[in-house]
Amino acid sequence: MRTPWLLLPILILNLTSAVSCHRKAHSGGGVVDGGGGGFVPLSKPEEVRAALRQALELGSNPVPQRNIFVKFILDAAFDRRDIDILRRSRRVFPNLIRGNVRPEEFDRELSQALRVMKPEGGLSSPGKLSFDVSTEGVQSPVLARFLDSTNIQIRDAGDCAAGNGGHGDASVTSNSLNGKVCFSIGNLTRLTQEVLLKEILALMLHEAAHLGGADEEEAMAWQSSFSKYFNEKFLRIEGSQDLVSQSTKLARIGFRRFLNEVNNLDTKGVNFRKDIQILILKAPRLEDQFGFKAYGDRLVSNLLFSPKSPERFNQYSNSVSALLERRNSLVDLVPLNDELDARQKFKEDLLEYAKALEDLMDKALKNFSAYIHGGPPGECILPSYKPPGLWWSRVPKTCDP
Ligand SMILES: [Zn+2]
Repeated sequence: MRTPWLLLPILILNLTSAVSCHRKAHSGGGVVDGGGGGFVPLSKPEEVRAALRQALELGSNPVPQRNIFVKFILDAAFDRRDIDILRRSRRVFPNLIRGNVRPEEFDRELSQALRVMKPEGGLSSPGKLSFDVSTEGVQSPVLARFLDSTNIQIRDAGDCAAGNGGHGDASVTSNSLNGKVCFSIGNLTRLTQEVLLKEILALMLHEAAHLGGADEEEAMAWQSSFSKYFNEKFLRIEGSQDLVSQSTKLARIGFRRFLNEVNNLDTKGVNFRKDIQILILKAPRLEDQFGFKAYGDRLVSNLLFSPKSPERFNQYSNSVSALLERRNSLVDLVPLNDELDARQKFKEDLLEYAKALEDLMDKALKNFSAYIHGGPPGECILPSYKPPGLWWSRVPKTCDP
């Protein structure tokens, strides 16, 4: 049984099931209103096709960890920020939120639910709103529709026709799961290449929301919310091909400096313990040298870097995690006591440790380069710890397939 607050919007939607999208996609800064006039194409049709293919793959991937919309909705849930979209989540992810909650209670219930949520198994709080972040919980029948090409019409040119007389870059034949989706390649060429993937993904989610029964206002809310999310999360790193050489240079300089300082450590100094504390704090933080903390997330990394060898993600991700693990455990190194012998021994140990760290860093840099540029495959180095983080963004902990 549905609660009355759910019944109302469903009745309205049934009456207007012919409503379709007549949305023009956004370009960089604002809405481009095609109107009916011509426009100057900014992308080539084949670029639009490639972006559409990539969008369909990212958005309909049945493996939750590789589906960008699953990531979007879970990030919204975990970051506790997009309440509006979570409230509407059943349009696209009908199994994500469990329980019948009246709208006025929703926000309170949601925040309570999220406070006690466990990343591993979702949470269970009888009688209250809960999230199911298992594979079933994030399954989406509307996104699955995009897996079957017979449900998708791709027009070379001209507007996609819509049931209510509207027309545009994309449309659905009906606001229901049986609807077919149309994309107009010709219309989408007026987007710049920079925003192509983002806008097509946002448009795809807009149409997906329609398939879940959403009206135009709601579909637009999904679209703009995703667009914003994408900007924050996936803003492509310019010149990622140069990134490896820059990273390598920076990482090596930082490390050489650190090794020098360890070498210069005065074991007879009055403040030896304090000196080593400061020294260890100054050891280079290596996260930024390896993809801006994207190393733990295949989807984010692949979108940020457009790597030549995405299949080498595991080696890259694991070795960076192993390196950071080793780097962070520097702080656990302490001299046995403050005797001169112990100080000397400590300095030698630290030097050895730092050299091993540098060696590991070189291997991780090679793996990073193999992932981004291709070339010889790297070495599989697995971290030993369980990195903190959400279930889908864990480092792979297995070697490259
Ligand atoms: Zn629409």
